[in-house]
Amino acid sequence: METQEAPLHVAMVAAPGIGHVIPLTELAKRLVHHNFAVTFFVPNDGTPMKLQKQLLQSLPKSISSVFLPPLKFDEDVPAEVRITLSLTLSIPALRDSFKASTKSTQVVAMVVDSFGMDAFDVAREFGVEPYVLFTTNAMALSFVFHLPKLDQMFSDPASNLPPVYPVGPMVQTASAHLVDWSNNCLKWLNEQPSGSVLYVCFGSGGILSQEQLNELAMGLERSGQRFLWVVKSPDDKATNATYFSLESIKDPFDFLPTGFLERTKGTGLVVPSWAPQVQVLSHGSTGGFVTHCGWNSTLEGIVHGVPLIAWPLYAEQRMNAVLLADDLKVALRVKVNEHGVVGREDISKYAKALIEGEEGTLLRNRMRKLKDAAKMVLSPDGSSAKSLANVVEIWKNQ
Ligand code: UDP
Repeated sequence: METQEAPLHVAMVAAPGIGHVIPLTELAKRLVHHNFAVTFFVPNDGTPMKLQKQLLQSLPKSISSVFLPPLKFDEDVPAEVRITLSLTLSIPALRDSFKASTKSTQVVAMVVDSFGMDAFDVAREFGVEPYVLFTTNAMALSFVFHLPKLDQMFSDPASNLPPVYPVGPMVQTASAHLVDWSNNCLKWLNEQPSGSVLYVCFGSGGILSQEQLNELAMGLERSGQRFLWVVKSPDDKATNATYFSLESIKDPFDFLPTGFLERTKGTGLVVPSWAPQVQVLSHGSTGGFVTHCGWNSTLEGIVHGVPLIAWPLYAEQRMNAVLLADDLKVALRVKVNEHGVVGREDISKYAKALIEGEEGTLLRNRMRKLKDAAKMVLSPDGSSAKSLANVVEIWKNQ
């Protein structure tokens, strides 16, 4: 660790969803190693944000956090609108809070979530340089960078593109545990053969319809493969219904096919709402991962060398699925049938192919190479570490 008397300060403005808070906390932890202190400003969408609080409170003491006053949204406001508005409506509170909590420190940069561009104005008011932590793939970033060109074609000339520092992958080393949702999945994994378990999880907010939930259950059962499934109660309208609350409101077990839990006892374990995903993916018994392709989940799969079944649901997840299945060839991609669902027969085939088929072996071998590449970029001489060191130099020399 470098030594310096009074640490320079970096302000971070998160978005309320856990999937957005996690990468920023990972960046904060790395900055602490460069002798920075970090203050988080977290807009509060009005949900309890239990996990976010738990995660932020568990960080080293040079990382502090301020929860901005809670907002109120009607239940039917879609998640993406709610994230954006949470940040926009919190700007006055951010300004006051930033002023009060950074009075006696030298803030050299403000790093904001990609939904938090409005915070740029606050940074500039206080003479602080703003940065965005763009927490998804480079293809999505180049798409975003293409937007000014489209804008230019159809309206005013667009501004120059900002510099890009590829500091990722920003991956947790252990998942936050939810105290009162603790479950025995790690103990169960200890008892399973090496590489035999298919882990099924659609992130913090991913939700299936009732019909799709049935097909998935029947497909897993039919495959005969071992599985660990994080199940949430279905919703026929929104695919990201628990994005903020994480926890299913209704008991998800009530929505599983009759007799499913009894019939799959021994081969499968179903846990409600949440599992310690990083611990599951790093466990030797885990042999595959059915994922909604959220970028954190994608990177966690890569860093632990686990081949994937890509089942995108919302946001840029379809783009991530194309990258994983067609470009990197480390995932099988599910196909929706003429009834608008992924059918049980297909699910059973994907599960078998990934865990015990030849195709699974090919995907696993390619994934291991990616795992090595991810390890290399994070090593002290790797491109990611060097890129972060570049940013740190800029901030220290201001
Ligand atoms: N996660 C977890 N347990 C769960 C579901 C999710 O630990 O049961 C973590 C997962 O490890 C990841 C994050 O929550 O770090 C989800 O982020 P991602 O970008 O994959 O998806 P999002 O939830 O934002 O759609």
